[in-house]
Amino acid sequence: MSSPSDFYKDWDGICQECLTETASWTMSMFSTKLVCWDCKDKEMQRPDYRLAVDADELAIKRGDYNYPGWDQRKASIEDTN
Ligand SMILES: [Zn+2]
Repeated sequence: MSSPSDFYKDWDGICQECLTETASWTMSMFSTKLVCWDCKDKEMQRPDYRLAVDADELAIKRGDYNYPGWDQRKASIEDTN
């Protein structure tokens, strides 16, 4: 089982979404990608951003640090239906 800090060692200075070099970054709410704040801004404008944040918080409360992000979780829900 990986801990949240495992994500950070993957950071190499490049946004994993738009591949731009950036000094500051954060985790995507929709995937496990590490993204720049431009990409994060775009993410936050998605209508389902709030749902993604809630789902992420629930996963952390469950201790589910392998939570794949909202897009993957949604996809897996759709797969089982
Ligand atoms: Zn980016």
